[in-house]
Amino acid sequence: MNAIKKKVAFKTLGCRLNQYETDALVSDFDQAGYEIVDFKDAADVVIVNTCTVTNQSDQKSRNTISQAARNNLGSMVVVTGCMANNYKEKLEGQSKITYVVDNERKASIRQLVDAHFQGEILHPSNLEGDVFQFNTVDRSLHTRSSIKIQDGCDNFCTFCIIPKVRGRAVSRPLPQIIENVKDTLANGFKELVITGVNIGRYEWEDKRFEDVLEAILNVPGDFRVRISSLEPDGFGDRFYDLFEHPKLAPHLHLCLQSGSDKVLLRMRRMYDLNRFADIVDRFRTKRPDFNFTSDLIVGFPGESETDFEESLDAITRFNFSHVHTFKYSVRKGTRAERMEDQIAENIKTERSAILREASEQLRVNYLNRFIGREQTVLVEKVDSRGFASGYGEHYIPVRFKGNDIQKNTFHKVRIIKLEGQGDNVGLLGENQEN
Ligand code: SF4
Repeated sequence: MNAIKKKVAFKTLGCRLNQYETDALVSDFDQAGYEIVDFKDAADVVIVNTCTVTNQSDQKSRNTISQAARNNLGSMVVVTGCMANNYKEKLEGQSKITYVVDNERKASIRQLVDAHFQGEILHPSNLEGDVFQFNTVDRSLHTRSSIKIQDGCDNFCTFCIIPKVRGRAVSRPLPQIIENVKDTLANGFKELVITGVNIGRYEWEDKRFEDVLEAILNVPGDFRVRISSLEPDGFGDRFYDLFEHPKLAPHLHLCLQSGSDKVLLRMRRMYDLNRFADIVDRFRTKRPDFNFTSDLIVGFPGESETDFEESLDAITRFNFSHVHTFKYSVRKGTRAERMEDQIAENIKTERSAILREASEQLRVNYLNRFIGREQTVLVEKVDSRGFASGYGEHYIPVRFKGNDIQKNTFHKVRIIKLEGQGDNVGLLGENQEN
């Protein structure tokens, strides 16, 4: 590279998997001698890692691309991520975008940029395609690092565009995963998040999801492990036992999507409400405070008032501490696009508001249970007044004061009270080590 470093900026939309892939690209560019700058600052290259899961994500991705081009006239704009797969030709036709790189080739973006600055114009389709060839994350904007074990999905839920944009399910070889875990820990991370599109369906040689989880938990070191989003199918009895392991955090983001069996069937989900309840009950019998969070779609085609009421009942019954509510949005090429009884936008908005309100109350109820108890908090931020904040093992936000607290360290904190409200509700605690 030249003595003057080229500046590169990133913007990520969407899920944790996308976030991880950006982090890996940031590390790759940093190691290759580029200067990483904020998205708001002038850069020689801007990389936008897009999302296409709903209409709203499309809109946000489009706005971000326009903003990147506007703020950096004459600079290189690289668009990647799920929207790049979904609307490839449309995006390739836009003069403000220099390169459109699909998900399969995302890991090779640095080679494309290097070549460009050396005067060689590569076509992105000539880049190497490997969804697991990402750099180990060593410089992250986050305290946790994801470990990607799987990509793609074979479930074809009727509303979902993911199988089209992320492809069929593929699993990363276990030895590669363990090497990645060891390298990530060596880079100083203390919390790992197991990530993929449908990780419960991991399948490599005779290894399944539980084998991967166990192998990761058995890697020596002072760290803890979280599981990102999980489908409520595909795992067996051993999965429950693995939560006895002290390194595995007692939290699951288990995607429910609807509380109505009729809607679940139309969505072509692989479970019904009873199966979901069995899973939750089995965990909560052992650990009543086990944290479940979830995703719910409101306004799926044909969702009646009764179906919606069932979703509302379900979130209360399962005591989710957080529900990510999505208004159903038509995705081109999916089965649900052709379904009759599409729900009017105003009804979706109304239902979504009701669900959000109920979910906020559930969160308060859940957090209240921790008052007077202890959490081990991994510090993510320390403010100028000496307040540290981070998440406890149950994935609950905790703030506390202490002397000389450093980021990325574990602290035992006794919870005193609830603070904040709405999206900002959290817990205030007392450092037990003072
Ligand atoms: S399980 Fe269903 S919702 Fe999840 S990625 Fe696969 S197709 Fe989409």
